[in-house]
Amino acid sequence: MAPKIVVVGSANADLVVAVQRRPGAGETVLGADTVVVPGGKGANTAVAAARLGAPVALLGALGDDQYGTLLRDSLAAAGVATELVRTSARPTGIAYITVTPDGENSIVVSPGANAEVSADDVVAAAGTLRAARVLACSLEVPVPAVEQAVAVAVSAGVRPVLNLSPVARLRQETLASLDPLVVNQHEAAWLLGTAEDAVPGVELASALLGLGPRSVVVTLGAAGAALAERGDVVEVPAPEVRAVDTTGAGDAFTGALAARLAGGEKLAAAVHFAVRVASLSVTRAGAQPSYPAAEDVLLA
Ligand code: ATP
Repeated sequence: MAPKIVVVGSANADLVVAVQRRPGAGETVLGADTVVVPGGKGANTAVAAARLGAPVALLGALGDDQYGTLLRDSLAAAGVATELVRTSARPTGIAYITVTPDGENSIVVSPGANAEVSADDVVAAAGTLRAARVLACSLEVPVPAVEQAVAVAVSAGVRPVLNLSPVARLRQETLASLDPLVVNQHEAAWLLGTAEDAVPGVELASALLGLGPRSVVVTLGAAGAALAERGDVVEVPAPEVRAVDTTGAGDAFTGALAARLAGGEKLAAAVHFAVRVASLSVTRAGAQPSYPAAEDVLLA
């Protein structure tokens, strides 16, 4: 089936180790056994959307190594089309993740092959992108590739969704096309130049709308999300859950949002659904392994 969602983004192997507490500078702590799971913001977003039943393709790059195979297998198992995933001479990207007992994580990403995703790759895939309904991007791949993808999407009436993570400056033309721009609180504060916890979520969302995007979603962790669109600002609380591992919660959110938008749902309803999906994902370990299927969300 032709993909309704094209995801432009990273694919990484997540090397996850549980620790009692993070080491400070110059310090060593002992952790539990390392668990290797498929991850990367792009692959996670694609898998989250595919689990929910959406036809998805990932545009990205992997190395010719064991982690590349891990990622290709997991994408295929979730039903994500991988024709647009190039094999690069550089190693597959790796994320080194520590998780503490409160479920919080700290991450170092070594981009490897992801750093080679280019505007030319996007141009080569323009036919597939133009035929989609939604483009979903994140920024563990180079900004020019993402800006090219947004430009192609906009020229073809494809809805551009961008999770601006890790946060970076974009051309105004790109920012103004986003529908929505998705950021977490830290990223929102960075974009606005404010202190992190100084401003409530709804105010962050409406201030970001002032920077030009067509709509804005600020994810607020356990508090859910805030949505701003054409003067309307809505807060969407998250269900109370026992958080085990928040790794990839933002990607679960973006994947679920893209899945519902591609199905023709309005943004506010899609945000409600995405909050439920992401909140379910934090109750299970890992990123991709924690993503629910549509029936899990109905039952929750
Ligand atoms: P990450 O970087 O861990 O992938 P993020 O910082 O991009 O996540 P968050 O705002 O932390 O994004 O979380 C995204 C969504 O995940 C929230 O909108 C919420 O639905 C869900 N979520 C995250 N943490 C919790 C929690 N402790 N309890 C319930 N839901 C949560």
